[in-house]
Amino acid sequence: MNCPSCGAQMRLEADKDCFTCEYCRSIFFPEKDAEGVSVLQAESDQNCPICAVPLALAALAKIRIRYCIHCRGVLIPMDAFMPLVEELRAGSPGSLVPPAPDPNQLHRRIACPQCHQPMDTHFYAGPGNVVIDDCSTCLLNWLDHGELMRIVRAPDHTYTGEEEMV
Ligand SMILES: [Zn+2]
Ligand SMILES: [Zn+2]
Ligand SMILES: [Zn+2]
Repeated sequence: MNCPSCGAQMRLEADKDCFTCEYCRSIFFPEKDAEGVSVLQAESDQNCPICAVPLALAALAKIRIRYCIHCRGVLIPMDAFMPLVEELRAGSPGSLVPPAPDPNQLHRRIACPQCHQPMDTHFYAGPGNVVIDDCSTCLLNWLDHGELMRIVRAPDHTYTGEEEMV
């Protein structure tokens, strides 16, 4: 994107959720949407596994994710997943008892946006009663809209439902 003050090309900081202008030193923070996600780049090299449109490069609680502006699903590197959940919990989002997991969600099959192999669809072992999709090759988790906040807002930190089903 271009600098709002001087029009020069801005640089995206590798570990931040802002752009800097090398010409006039302006710092620009992209606007956050209602869910706290700021889109840094409208299109990345990976597509949404649900909508097949390019995922945006985005930041949530200062952590880099890929985000579908269409279905609002999120693709999160596994090593960033717990830090992200902790960071979002630190923002006191309030707790909410999650509804029972929906076993029908286990039947959906989606392909990994990176390696295009089928993702592993399973009950998330932590709180929130959600079904997530992950790729153990690329170390990526896909969460549909709302699932991340269900995990964040779950009052307990252990999964209380049925045994994990494969
Ligand atoms: Zn500038
Ligand atoms: Zn999508
Ligand atoms: Zn993969």
